[in-house]
Amino acid sequence: MFETVTYEVPADRVARISLNRPEARNAQDTKLLYELNDAFDMAARDDAISVIVLAANGPHFSSGHDLREADPIGSLGKYETVGTWCGFSCEGAEGWMAREKELYQGLSERWRNIPKPTIAQVQGKCIAGGLMLVWPCDLIVASEDALFSDNTVSMGMTGVEFFGHPWELGPRKAKEMLFTSDFVTAQDAHRLGMVNQVVPAAELATFTLELASKIAAKPLFALKLAKEAVNAAEDAQGRISAMQTAFALHQLGHSHNMQVHGLPIDPRGAGGLVEAPKR
Ligand code: ZN
Repeated sequence: MFETVTYEVPADRVARISLNRPEARNAQDTKLLYELNDAFDMAARDDAISVIVLAANGPHFSSGHDLREADPIGSLGKYETVGTWCGFSCEGAEGWMAREKELYQGLSERWRNIPKPTIAQVQGKCIAGGLMLVWPCDLIVASEDALFSDNTVSMGMTGVEFFGHPWELGPRKAKEMLFTSDFVTAQDAHRLGMVNQVVPAAELATFTLELASKIAAKPLFALKLAKEAVNAAEDAQGRISAMQTAFALHQLGHSHNMQVHGLPIDPRGAGGLVEAPKR
């Protein structure tokens, strides 16, 4: 059914979606993001499912966005978009902003608002765009070897498009993460409240599934209402408007890099992974 993610029901009322590009360290290209969105929709619409686990095959959760993808704006034309911001024949800053508003900020916010409980199951490295898959989940279970980073400041950017850092880590650690590009360990992420549980790698899948099953045994409507209530508390504190401001600054960063380097990011910090856009 899907090529870049897998979908299974490993326990009663639990769906597990797994990123399935381990050969590419689960780098997220346009196809993977739309398949992931379709898989989330499938689980959300299935009344026999109460809890959704987001996992990843291979040693690493995700290396972030696939910077090797050719024609990232034009590739959107192959998919049925879920947003209405642009027809994706747009060019320049408009085209770039439309892509990121749809695929990055838009999908992550959409997944954050799925009413059913979601649990991210994280091992290995979870870098930049990887954060935009785990932060929208309600709970995060990490293996002891899990490492989280946003290295986009090194690429001349502000931080990932779904700007959860201050909410997830607190303002000071968020700034340290952004300013240094260093990894945050699973243990530090747990101490700061970003991660719910840290478990040995060998127990990660079993522990997460048991947690999912425990939650799935509760009345689903009550779970949905509890989730909405906590999300409303975050939003009442200004999460949405703060993220919109961060997104606008992020687009300014891309435009600056286009003017200075001819690329949406500063290639000096991207390890040779970026090429000039095709359009
Ligand atoms: Zn961006």
